[in-house]
Amino acid sequence: MNATISETEMDQAIQSLSSIVSFPSFGTEATDHAPFGEHDLDALKAMLHICETLGFTTYLDPDGYYGYADIGTGDKLLGVICHMDVVPAGNLSDWQTDPFKLTIKDGVLYGRGVQDDKGPTIAALYALKHAMDAGLKLRHQIRFIFETDEETLWRGINKYVKEQRTVDFGIAPDADFPVTYAEKALLQARIIGPGSEDLNIDLQNPFNAVPGAAEYSGPKQGEVKAALQKLNFTFTENDQSITVAGQSVHSMEAPKGTNAVVRLAMALSQVFDAPMLQFIDKGLGQDAYAANVLGDISDTVSGRLTFNLASLTVNKQTSSADIDLRIPVTVDKQAVVDKLSSTLAKFGLTYQQFDYLNPQYVKTDSPLVKTLMAAYQQVTGDKNAEPLVTGGATLARVMPNCVAFGGMLPSVKSYMHQVNEQWQIADMKTTMQIYVAAFTALNSIE
Ligand SMILES: [Zn+2]
Repeated sequence: MNATISETEMDQAIQSLSSIVSFPSFGTEATDHAPFGEHDLDALKAMLHICETLGFTTYLDPDGYYGYADIGTGDKLLGVICHMDVVPAGNLSDWQTDPFKLTIKDGVLYGRGVQDDKGPTIAALYALKHAMDAGLKLRHQIRFIFETDEETLWRGINKYVKEQRTVDFGIAPDADFPVTYAEKALLQARIIGPGSEDLNIDLQNPFNAVPGAAEYSGPKQGEVKAALQKLNFTFTENDQSITVAGQSVHSMEAPKGTNAVVRLAMALSQVFDAPMLQFIDKGLGQDAYAANVLGDISDTVSGRLTFNLASLTVNKQTSSADIDLRIPVTVDKQAVVDKLSSTLAKFGLTYQQFDYLNPQYVKTDSPLVKTLMAAYQQVTGDKNAEPLVTGGATLARVMPNCVAFGGMLPSVKSYMHQVNEQWQIADMKTTMQIYVAAFTALNSIE
């Protein structure tokens, strides 16, 4: 199999990418048959149209949640799980180009979605086309599945899983090379407790980030300041408030950050009486592994559990805290919840689940992971590469025997979710060559 992608093939792929980048598919108001907004549906339809021109048979969910494109026949179904939605462009004045017009400058593609996930989707699609043009006879049916709600609630892929055939094995081209074989379980929950007579704070932060700052603007600033100083925590002050400094990182890397909300709560617990503050100060502390609350939870496959306390509300009536846990793949979730609940009960607090995603774990000696690792190494020569573990979540976890595979090379700087999202054409070409090798090799696994 000649894996070299020609200039003409690159041009075709980039033209298709240009077509789908033009849709600002970041999820807007639902309309009839477009549950995530017209642009998401238009992007999905454009993608299905591209697949049809390449010889695929397509299906569009009549409710507009997802679509898929099939090619080849065979008993086994190989899935390629992608998404056509993007995050919003962010601050437009920070962009050097129009985010929804694919722009090429000095061999670099610019536009929202070129790395996440429109670019890798097109790379995988045209890699398969290249392999077939070069003579690959498909022994399995191959299905590209297009989600349009990945950046929000995964409603498209969840509807697919309910209604459509489960793939026998699959890849999600929506992460890094080489292969992500284990994704920790993701548990988002809320701790509820009684209020506090004279404290009123409402610190709202997303579950998936360690809070980098936390502000107190109540009347007892002198006492709070003294408590922070005693604890040796950094803060800034102005006339009205005190702001505790932290270091924000993604929740999956919580131990690498510094949680400003936890620090402020520890100081507040010296000044105010509230079971929630007691729990944070005496129970949790600054340990993002939460060993004092849960015991030391880890496994050899995916490492230690991580724990992030994101939001904190305390007022007269009630108190609550939002927490984000990434649980090792072989650990029993219920055991974690039971341990957490019993610790919380000691402080007079209760546990409430908010959202949960199952872990994914495909063994490193499975034919799928071995085949994908070999394809990656064959093209890149990167013999030292090891399969990856993540606390993050990709669409690979929605069906058994699926793994995230590329499309970003380890050398590529991530612009996902950032302004001026970009991808070098040379890197896209290498990614396509890896996918050619992968489709070719996957064709001969049973
Ligand atoms: Zn993505």
